[in-house]
Amino acid sequence: MNFEDTPEEAEFRARCRSWLEQNARPRDANSPANPLGERETDDIIAQAKAWQAKKFDEGWACLTWPKEHGGQGLGRMQSIIWGQEEAKFDTPPNIYQIGHGMLGPTIMAHGTPEQKERYLRDMARGQEVWCQLFSEPSAGSDLAGLRPTAVRDGDDWVINGQKIWSTGAHFCDWGMIVTRTDPDAPKHKGPTYFIVDMRSEGVEARPIKQISGASGFNEVFFTDVRVPDSNRLGGIGDGWGVSLTTLMNERVAIGSGGAGGGFGRLLDLARRSRRRGRPAIEDGAVRQQLADFYVTSKGLQYTGYRTLSAILRGETPGPEGAIGKAVGAPMMQQMASFAQDLQGTVGGLLDKDVAGDDTSWQDLYLGAPGMRIAGGTDEVLRNIIAERVLGLPPEIRVDKGMPFREVPTGPQDS
Ligand SMILES: Cc1cc2nc3c(=O)[nH]c(=O)nc-3n(C[C@H](O)[C@H](O)[C@H](O)COP(=O)(O)OP(=O)(O)OC[C@H]3O[C@@H](n4cnc5c(N)ncnc54)[C@H](O)[C@@H]3O)c2cc1C
Repeated sequence: MNFEDTPEEAEFRARCRSWLEQNARPRDANSPANPLGERETDDIIAQAKAWQAKKFDEGWACLTWPKEHGGQGLGRMQSIIWGQEEAKFDTPPNIYQIGHGMLGPTIMAHGTPEQKERYLRDMARGQEVWCQLFSEPSAGSDLAGLRPTAVRDGDDWVINGQKIWSTGAHFCDWGMIVTRTDPDAPKHKGPTYFIVDMRSEGVEARPIKQISGASGFNEVFFTDVRVPDSNRLGGIGDGWGVSLTTLMNERVAIGSGGAGGGFGRLLDLARRSRRRGRPAIEDGAVRQQLADFYVTSKGLQYTGYRTLSAILRGETPGPEGAIGKAVGAPMMQQMASFAQDLQGTVGGLLDKDVAGDDTSWQDLYLGAPGMRIAGGTDEVLRNIIAERVLGLPPEIRVDKGMPFREVPTGPQDS
């Protein structure tokens, strides 16, 4: 692929930049983007909503969505260019990544005309924020093992059970939940997918305290929550297929998140830091480590371009897309650790006032383990690469075809 902008792309990039220059302040190249899911106070949510509404009103929201759903009907390349330019400006955290990247496309693929009309435009304008209610205490990587039940009662369904790790559920207006409606069917055949009003009676989101001190995600409890049948997304028992649409979009959303960034900031830190009385950048061991990070981040960048080329050719990105996250997320953690070493004693401090330096590396160090779990753990990604890229034998699936209620869930009598 040609990495230079075409004349049309260059013109589009200039238009993006000009609008951003008029509406936002440039971000210091050495400061990281505002982190997602870490510090959403009411004030920050209000800022994020105002920014999204402004983008929507002036034609810069959900660029790849069709116009009838509140988007701009543009191509993926324009969306990437916009993302690259917006990242250079100091904007509120993106609280819409799950809604715009995963849930909106799921409604477009499986929703009724009424559901599309009711939800998509408001989602694009950002005044309603959405969360994903998939993971559970006993179903994460193996999502099809999900347990919350939905039982039909007249025109409603009644949902009971628990979800966990639900990003933003404490401030979201709507959620997408996958439940079990037929426990006699095999595990992939019995789920049904719903849109749930997070303000419904019986929904309780309890924020989870993270190692960083922030609470970006939640446990969410459902007690006799009534959801109208008109909020069912897809057919009864078709929830697994609908969930796959969400998960495929999640992979694209994560893949386009730019794994491998941050090398420039690390290089700058190495130039500013001192080791044994000299600039750290002159130390052989530091240079060696920087070279390793540089080579890996370039490899990630070009692997990302390969995925991008496939998308631009109209192909669906294949399982090799797992490589970016499997390599990029651990590298972010290693880079953060190395940066803290370069910072010396303040590297271990989180409080900006005491550290007297940029504490974003500390934040990254505490957040990176989450990146290695969300959207597919390291081990699950390696399984995908092993089975679907390298063609190695698949894992043994002992519960295949078994009615869900017969799947063993604990120690068995001999
Ligand atoms: C920052 C963050 C945000 C998140 N946001 C959301 C959200 O908004 N909504 C939502 O629904 N979920 C969310 N999640 C949850 C996330 O999807 C799950 O944590 C993830 O799918 C892993 O599931 P689990 O935590 O249950 O771990 P498990 O699946 O129980 O895995 C435990 C361990 O076993 C390993 N393992 C599991 N299966 C295999 C296997 N087949 N082969 C080898 N090893 C295996 C895993 O790699 C891991 O080390 C979020 C998680 C994080 C960290």
